[in-house]
Amino acid sequence: MADPELPFLPYGRQSIDADDVAAVARAVEGETISRGAQVSEFERAIERRTGAQTAVACANGTAALHMAALALQLQPGERVIVPAITFVATANAARYVGAEVTFADVDPDSGLMTPETLAQALAAPGTGAVRSVFPVHLNGQVGDVAGIRDLARRHGLSIVEDAAHAFGTTYAVGTAVHRVGACDHADMAIFSAHPVKAFTTGEGGIVTTRSSDFASGLAFARNHGITREADRFQDRDLAFGASNAPNPWYYEMHELGFNYWITDIQCALGLSQLAKLERMLERRRALAARYEAALAALSPLVRVVPRTPGCVAAWHLFVVLIDFAAAGRSRAEVMNALRARGIGSQVHYIPVPWQPYYRRRYGDVSLPGAAAYYARCLSLPLFPAMTDVDVGRVVAALGQALNIPA
Ligand SMILES: *Cc1c(COP(=O)(O)O)cnc(C)c1O
Repeated sequence: MADPELPFLPYGRQSIDADDVAAVARAVEGETISRGAQVSEFERAIERRTGAQTAVACANGTAALHMAALALQLQPGERVIVPAITFVATANAARYVGAEVTFADVDPDSGLMTPETLAQALAAPGTGAVRSVFPVHLNGQVGDVAGIRDLARRHGLSIVEDAAHAFGTTYAVGTAVHRVGACDHADMAIFSAHPVKAFTTGEGGIVTTRSSDFASGLAFARNHGITREADRFQDRDLAFGASNAPNPWYYEMHELGFNYWITDIQCALGLSQLAKLERMLERRRALAARYEAALAALSPLVRVVPRTPGCVAAWHLFVVLIDFAAAGRSRAEVMNALRARGIGSQVHYIPVPWQPYYRRRYGDVSLPGAAAYYARCLSLPLFPAMTDVDVGRVVAALGQALNIPA
C-alpha cells in the first residue's frame, strides 16, 4: 500500500524556488511583459551557455522544431530522417512544412540513432529527395554525432539536433569536448523548457545555430514572416519617404511565418532557472549514479541504458531496460505496482511510426531496434528535489514489483 507519509514521486517535475517566484513577479510588473528585454537577455544567456552564435527563444520545443524546418526551407515531398524512438513532435515538424518522414531505427539498448541505422534509412525505399536528418539526444545522451554528421554531409543533408533532453550535456569527439547546442555537428539544435526538462520557462523552446542565414530564417518564422529591418525592405516606394528615411510605421512580410513568441515573464523564469542550472544538473547526475549503483541488485532483469563514452549527460530521464518476460510481470503490472507505492513511471517512447497517423501515411515499417528498446524501457522518477532515500525507495519498490528477492 502507498504510505500516506511518503510523497508521490512523478517521473519528472520542475524545481521552483523563492528566487524564481520573485523573478516572475518582477517581470510581470515590468514595462514590457512580452517580446522585450528579458527575451533578449535569456537568448544571450543561452548563447553563453551553449557557445552557439545565435539563440532564438520561442513558445515551446515543438515550435522550435517547426521554426527549424521553416529555416531549412524544406519543401513538400522532400524527406527528413527521424529516429523512431522520440516524442512525436520531432517527426511532426517535418510534416508541418509538408515534408515526408523516413524513420530510422535505433540502437536497441541506447535508443539512439547510429550512423548504421541512418545509412539503412537512407537506403530505404521512399519517394522524394532526403534533405535533412533530425537526430535526437534521447535521455540526454549524445550518440555518434560525428559519424552521423560525416554521413549526412556526404549525402548533402542538413542536420537539426532535437536536444530537448540534453540542455547541459557535453560529449567528446576524439580529445575535443563539445557542448550540445554549440552546433559543432549540426546546423541547428532545438531545446524545450517544458516543466519536466532540465530547466523550465513553463512552456518554452529555443533554437541555436552558428549560421546567420538560419538565424534570420528563425526570426522570420517566429514573427509572422515579418521584418522591420530597413535594409531588407523590398518595396522601396512603400518603405521610404521623401528624405529616403524608412517610414516609421513600416514593416514587410516576406514569408508565411507564425506567432511563436515567448513572453518576458517566461524568460525571467528561464534566467532565474539558468542561474542554478549547474546545481540542478549535478543533482540529476548524482541521482543517476546512485540509481546505477543500487540497481546492480536487480541485475540482470533490470539494466541501465549503456553510457556513451565521453558523454556527460544532462539526464533528462532515468531509463531502465527490464526483461519483463523473464520476470513474469507485464510492464503495466509493474507500473501499477509502483503507482500503488506512490511511484510514477512512464514509457519514453512508443515508436513514432506506430502512431496511427504515421501508420496510415507510411504503413508498417520494420524497425527491430526500436521495437526492442520500446519493449523493455521504463522511465523511473528523476528530478533535482529527489533525495537519496527516494532512490532507495524506488529501487526497492521495483524489486518487489518484479518479484526479485531482496
Ligand atoms: C519535450 C520534447 C519536445 C517538445 O517540446 P515541447 O516544449 O513540449 O513542445 C520535442 N522533442 C523531444 C524529444 C521532447 O522530449
